[in-house]
Order: sequence, then structure tokens, then C-alpha cells
Amino acid sequence: MSIQTLKSLADALAQKKISSRELVSDYLARIETLNSRLNAFITVDRDGALAAADAADTAIAAGKAAPLAGVPIAHKDLFCTEGVLTTCGSKILANFVSPYDANVVTQLKAAGCVSLGKTNMDEFAMGSTNESSAYGLVRNPWNTERVPGGSSGGSAAAVAAGMVPAATGTDTGGSIRQPAGLCGVTGIKPTYGVVSRYGMIAYASSLDQGGPIAHTAEDCALLLSHMAGFDTRDSTSLQREREDYTRDLNRPLDGLRIGLPKEYFGEGLADDVRVAIEAALAELRKLGATTVEVSLPNTHLAIPAYYVIAPAEASSNLSRFDGVRYGHRAKEYADLVGDKVSPLEAMYMRSRAEGFGSETKRRILVGTYVLSHGYYDAYYIKAQQLRRLIAEDFQQALTQCDVIAGPVAPTAAWKLGQMADDPVQMYLADIYTIAVNLAGLPGLSTPAGFSADGMPVGLQLIGNYFGEARLLNVAHRLQQATDWHLQQPAV
Ligand code: GLN
Repeated sequence: MSIQTLKSLADALAQKKISSRELVSDYLARIETLNSRLNAFITVDRDGALAAADAADTAIAAGKAAPLAGVPIAHKDLFCTEGVLTTCGSKILANFVSPYDANVVTQLKAAGCVSLGKTNMDEFAMGSTNESSAYGLVRNPWNTERVPGGSSGGSAAAVAAGMVPAATGTDTGGSIRQPAGLCGVTGIKPTYGVVSRYGMIAYASSLDQGGPIAHTAEDCALLLSHMAGFDTRDSTSLQREREDYTRDLNRPLDGLRIGLPKEYFGEGLADDVRVAIEAALAELRKLGATTVEVSLPNTHLAIPAYYVIAPAEASSNLSRFDGVRYGHRAKEYADLVGDKVSPLEAMYMRSRAEGFGSETKRRILVGTYVLSHGYYDAYYIKAQQLRRLIAEDFQQALTQCDVIAGPVAPTAAWKLGQMADDPVQMYLADIYTIAVNLAGLPGLSTPAGFSADGMPVGLQLIGNYFGEARLLNVAHRLQQATDWHLQQPAV
């Protein structure tokens, strides 16, 4: 089976060459075959998908179809979906059925997309390997002993394995770009505020952005056009005109200036990743682009700043999971009650102890510490100052170029378990993605060949604020000239 793009499926549906029911049934069958091996889905909504497919077929027959009518997609399991389980990869939400849809879910439904279910993810989107999910790890379809990346590892693995043509993801420090890169698919994190966070379970609110993961830049552009847009229910949603992100896809790259940050090509970058990135850059030069060295001098401060800001926001966001309003409540906690602990506090404590996994607990502890009296100025305020410096670095670099390019991650996908006991080592692997979130800029990952041992490598493109259409244009032209994005794992 060759890759099926969302665009080709939307066209085939519109031309009535295939029905949505047939298409959705095919994908559900493929999920059934592959999910026991890859664990990319937490929930498969078979009945809901077939009902939505029938509705799409009716609309198409009546000539009243929405633009993406009948096209199957999947949602990362942190987007709230009405009537369908939403776990956020956590045991604490094991029984949470959302009473409403996230804005992204509502908009993609309105565009006609049919959701097949909810994809696996690191617990509360904390992780880079999808090993912290309470629902088991996800395997990389290119080599099932390797990680798929995270935290949107289920979405990326599902798309790469052909279990669904496209899926939603979220990116707080790289969680769309890095798994897309490690699984050989395309993903874009928009400018902060472009996609509404309403109904997206919050990890670090000032960094979180939703975006699409698909085989091609064109598919990402189509989906993003329906995911983005002002939403009064998210106070950080930006009030802007709606955009058609496909509008510039075919724009020639003549005269495009690509900045190569010297900090992204230095020590720590694996040789085989460097070779793959150089080959992709050579293709872009052939298409008319020029490259220039730029500098992002505060790159080394991005991970320290992020691991203060993100846990601080997480500790505050996750305080709502207390066993009362949502999710898991401990059955036994009387043994904790004492002089200093009331029954209510004991219930909170035991519910959270049972419901959260160890990585989430680590982040809550770090976050609570850096926000506490006496440390707030030393850590949190300092991190916010670094954040400003990091954002200024990008603005400086972008005076010399139109887009910035580099690797998504320092290595291709590593072995499952390899970093499981070493969180700091795992944090460091996000070196090229995290600064983009701190600055609020858009970033994209597109396939750029393979590592020495045959694992996909991702090229990252970073744009200025609201530069999504340009990033998609550059990736689309590259994809027209190369076939890395068309390669498929033998699952
Ligand atoms: N790996 C990073 C973290 O664990 C980023 C995750 C994300 O983007 N959600 O925080």
C-alpha cells in the first residue's frame, strides 16, 4: 500500500470514487491489525466513526458536503471529545468522558472529518518518547524496538503506519515536531494563539499549541486551515482574519533566505542526522534558496528556562485533578488522616498519589518548588527573563533570513527504555524544539531522509510569527522535489 494523503482521499470522496463508510471501515480494520503491536490508539470509536461516515456519505450524495467530508482523522487524547473517553494518557482521567468538544474537534467535525478515535500520548503531554503513558508505551512503526517520540507519539506512529491519514497533536516543547520527525511524517506547531486551546487539557498554558500531523505539508495546510481561528472561549486566542494555509504552497523558492543557526549544528548533533539535514538543505538550494549562517546565542538557556516555566504552569494546571471534580478517586485513605491531615486532604493526597505517574509527579514537585515563596524570584522570574532573551535571539536572526532551518532532534529514534531512568538526558534531546515554544513562533518538521540505521530524520523549519503559510510552502516544494515523505515502514 502506498501512502494515502488526506488530499487524495478528500478528492476521491468528493468524486464518489469511494464512500466514507468503505474508507473508514478499511482504516478501522488496519487499526485492529496493527494496534496490538504499536499501541498508537487508546480509544477506537468504531461506532461513532461509522455513524459519522454515513452522515458524510449522505451529505456528499446530496451535494452538501463540507470540504473534508468523510475523511478519517484521529485526535490526540488530550483534546476533549464529547461522549468519548479523554484520558490525557493518565490514570487519573481513566474514566473521564468529556461533556463537550474541544474547539479543534468542533471545527474539524464541521469541516467533515470523521474521528476514528483517540491516540496515545505521554501522560499530560510530559515526555519525548511516549513511554510515560498510563496506557502503555507506543512503538515506532519503523522499528518496534525504538521510541516513536513524544508526547504526540500515538498520532505520529498512527499516521506513519497508515492507521489514519492524519491526526491532531499538541506541542509545548516539541511534541508535534519531534514525533513527526522520529516517525517520518510532517507536523506543524503554529504561532502561539493561532489554534484555540479551548478543550485542550492544559499542560503549560503559555506554551501549548495544537496542530496537525500528516504525511504531507499540503495535508497539514488543509487541516490547519480548519483548526485555526479566533475563539472567544480561549483568552489567548488571537483575533485575526481566517487564513487559507494552502494559498502559498506552490510559491517558488527563488530568493528564499534560509538561516542556519550555528548552535543547531554544533556538538551533540549526530553525524548521520547532520548528513541527512545537509542533503535536504542541498535540495532547497537547488530549488532556488540560499543559506546563511545565523546565531541563536541563548540556545543553551532554553532547556533550563523551559524546565522552570513548564513545570510551574503544570503544577498549577494539574491542581484541578483532586479526585473530586474529575477522574480517579482513591477508595482507601483513612490511614493518612492525622493531626495535620484532614480526611479531605487525605483523599486528595491518595487520589493524586494513585492517579499520577512518576514523570507527572516530578514536574508537579519541581513546579511547586520554583513557585514557592523565596524561590519564585530566583527561578521563575529568572526563567521568564531568559525567555525574553531567547525570543529576541530569533527576532535578531530573522532580520538576516526568511526562515530558519535545522534538525528537529539531535539523533534519530532511540531504543525503548534507553533514557527511561535518566530524565535529564531525555530533557536535553529537546534542545532544538523548545526555544520555538518559548518564543511562541511557528515550527514545522518535514521528512529529510534516514539515519545510518534506517530511522527517519526530520528537518525543522522555523518561521516568524504568523509565518505558517511560508513554512508549509517551503516544505511542500521540498516534498515535490524529494520522496522521503512517501517512504513507508514495513509494518
Ligand atoms: N518533551 C517536552 C516535555 O516533556 C515537550 C513535550 C511537549 O511538547 N508536550 O515537556
